[in-house]
Amino acid sequence: MALETQSLSILHEALEHLEEGFNNLPDSDIDLDMSGLRTIMLEVAEKMRDNYPYHHPLYAGQMLKPPHSIARLAYMLALWINPNNHALDGGRASSAMEKEAVAGIAKMFGWKTHLGHLCGGGTMANMEALWVAGHINSGKKIVASEQAHYTHNRLSEVLHLPFQSIPCDSRAKMDLNALEDVLKKGDVGTVVATMGTTATGSVDPLPDILDLKSKYGFRLHADAAYGGYFILAENLDVEARAAFDLIGEVDSIVIDPHKHGLQPYGCGCVLFKDPSVGRFYKHDSPYTYFSSAELHLGEISLECSRAGASAVALWATMRMFPLTRKGKLARGLESGRRAATALFEKIQSDQRFLTAFPPELDIVIWAPLAGKASEISIRSKEIFQAAARQNLHLAVATFSKTMLNETWEIDYDHNHVTCLRSCLMKAEHIEWLDRIWQVLDGVIRENL
Ligand SMILES: *Cc1c(COP(=O)(O)O)cnc(C)c1O
Repeated sequence: MALETQSLSILHEALEHLEEGFNNLPDSDIDLDMSGLRTIMLEVAEKMRDNYPYHHPLYAGQMLKPPHSIARLAYMLALWINPNNHALDGGRASSAMEKEAVAGIAKMFGWKTHLGHLCGGGTMANMEALWVAGHINSGKKIVASEQAHYTHNRLSEVLHLPFQSIPCDSRAKMDLNALEDVLKKGDVGTVVATMGTTATGSVDPLPDILDLKSKYGFRLHADAAYGGYFILAENLDVEARAAFDLIGEVDSIVIDPHKHGLQPYGCGCVLFKDPSVGRFYKHDSPYTYFSSAELHLGEISLECSRAGASAVALWATMRMFPLTRKGKLARGLESGRRAATALFEKIQSDQRFLTAFPPELDIVIWAPLAGKASEISIRSKEIFQAAARQNLHLAVATFSKTMLNETWEIDYDHNHVTCLRSCLMKAEHIEWLDRIWQVLDGVIRENL
C-alpha cells in the first residue's frame, strides 16, 4: 500500500478558499528558496524511511493507528494560519471548533454538562485529572491497578500525592478484593479505573468499583486514553459492555483522540463532569484574554500555547465520522476487535502457543510454548525479530509471574515473562488476518 497522496489536491483547493478570506489585505511576498526547500525535503524523506511501516496493515505491533486523511488535510490547512488555542486572541475559529469537538466527546459518554479541553496527550490529560482530584481530596491517596499506565504513579509523584498500586487478577483487571482492603484504611481519595489497559486492553470492573464508591466515597477517574471510543462498539463482551455503559457515572475521563480517534499525535482530551472544577484553574494573565469575555481555553487548561490545528483536525474528523454507534468509526473499532478475537482463536487452538485470556478490546497477548519462563522470553523476542524480517511487525510485552501464574503451568525461573503482543487497531486488519497468520506460521516453523 502506497502512502495516500490523492487527497492532496483538495488541500490546494481548500487553501485557495481560505486565502479568499484574507484577500482585502495588501500583498506581502515571502522570499522562498525553492532549491533549498527541495534539497532539504528530500533529505527529510530519506531520513523518514527509517521507520516501521505504521500505515500498513502488516504493522500489527504497538498502539499506532494512522491519522485519517481528513485529519491530516485539516491539520495541514490550519498550519497556514497556525492558530494557538490558548486564547481567543490566538485562535478564534479553532477554539470554537475545540469546544464543539470536546462537547461531542462528552456527549458520547452521556454527559450533558462538562468542563474539558484538548491537550498534548493522555499524559497531560491524566495529570490535570489527578491535579483536580488532589485539590478536592487533598493529602489522600491515588490508587490505580498494577496494569494502569505507569504515568499515574509518576504523575502522583509530580503532584506530591501519595500513590498505591492495586494488584490485578489473571485477566489484568483491578482485583476488587485487593482494592477494598486498601479502601478500608480510609485514606484513599481517588481511584483510577483503566478502561482498556495499554498492555492488554483489559477493562477494569467499573460497575463493582462504582458500588465500592457508594460504600467508601472516593473520587473516580476513568483513564480511557486507549479504550474510550470502544463505548461505540456493539461487539463488546458482557463485562466490557457493562463497564462502558456506566462510564458516565465517574467524575473525570481521559480519552486520546490520537490513539483511536484517527488523529495525528498531540491530541489528548480531559473531561470533568462537574464544570465548577474550573475554579482550580483560576489565574490572572497579564498578556492574554483581552479580546472577549467568552471563555478562553487557556483559562481552563494547564498548558498555555496549544496547537489549534489539533482541534481543527479533530473537528473535521468528527464531521466525517460522527461519534455514534451506527457510524463508520464504530464499525472500524468493531472490525479491529473481530480481528483480535479471530487471531486469538487461531493461536489458542495451536499447540505451539500459549494464550493468556481472550482480548477484551483489540489487543492480543500470546507466547510461544516452552517449559521455562526464561525460554519463553527469549523465543518471544526471536519471533518478534524474525517476523519483522518478513515485514510482519509485532510487539513484545513483559508480564509478572503473579499475573500469569494461574494461567500458565510452566517453570517460573524468572519473575517476569516476555510475551508477544499485537494491537489490531486498523479496520483493515481483519482482511489481512490470513496473511498475518501465514507469516507467523512460517516464522515459527523456521525458529522452533
Ligand atoms: C497511552 C495511554 C496513556 C498515556 O497517554 P499519551 O497520549 O501517550 O501521553 C495513559 N493511559 C492509558 C491507558 C494509555 O493507553
